[in-house]
Amino acid sequence: MKRAHVLASALMMMNLAAGIAFAQTAKPAAGAANAPTSREMNLLCWQEFSELVPAIRTVLLPTGSLEPHGVIPSGTDNIAPEAMAREIAGRVNALIAPTLNYGMTDSMKAFPGAVSISAEAYGLFVENIFRNLAEKGFENIIVLNGHGGNSGALNTAATKIATRERVRILVVNWWTLADDITKSVFRQNGGHAGNNETAYVQAIVPNHIHPERYHPDMASPNAPAGAYFAVPVTSSIGLYEKGQGYPTFDPAQAREYFQKVNDRVAELILDTVAKWDRAGVYKSR
Ligand SMILES: [Zn+2]
Repeated sequence: MKRAHVLASALMMMNLAAGIAFAQTAKPAAGAANAPTSREMNLLCWQEFSELVPAIRTVLLPTGSLEPHGVIPSGTDNIAPEAMAREIAGRVNALIAPTLNYGMTDSMKAFPGAVSISAEAYGLFVENIFRNLAEKGFENIIVLNGHGGNSGALNTAATKIATRERVRILVVNWWTLADDITKSVFRQNGGHAGNNETAYVQAIVPNHIHPERYHPDMASPNAPAGAYFAVPVTSSIGLYEKGQGYPTFDPAQAREYFQKVNDRVAELILDTVAKWDRAGVYKSR
């Protein structure tokens, strides 16, 4: 890194530490000509990126899928982690990598508008992205995963690239991490496109939620392990527990849930990075 860049980065880190939010429309502050205009890699020019990284050590990578979700958007698994990344990036001092909008969803591929990627293609694709992000200077790669079908492939790629590139990778499946929040906000368990996921997305895109199209018969409980197996799945609303997890469409619950889930994810990231630092693993590559 050039000396001028080091000084500019130090100045920007002070601004970031002071909690200045960099919105897409934010104007650079007076006297900070190189202040970033955004935390989104999609919006930063390469010169800005070179001034920010590796001083900013962490990148958030939202991963999702395009598949049916009851009466909420088919892009729910992309919309949720992307909004989460925007919400917490300042708190965890991270940049945001572009969302991987397609994932592995063979069991739902039969539904209108769904697109599924093969395991081989997806695994190689995410490995390449992890490796590139490590090479660009990020020390911590945080995958904000929005789609359960991706989890196994993400974990495998994370293990491979973390070891090979000496980089730290955390894969977060928010709906499982927030299990207790779901049970406290809704007083029952959740589901795929159920109360939890519907509420989270309702907080982000309220105009694209369609309760007028909803009927409880659209939901099915997930099969108890080994009991039966249907492909394609019979319902895009999959209840974690029989009789629980139906969408509520309540705007107040949606806002409360969105906030609490984001707080929990930010807390996990800060704690994980602090513990990696303390252990000294893959530091100062
Ligand atoms: Zn989903």
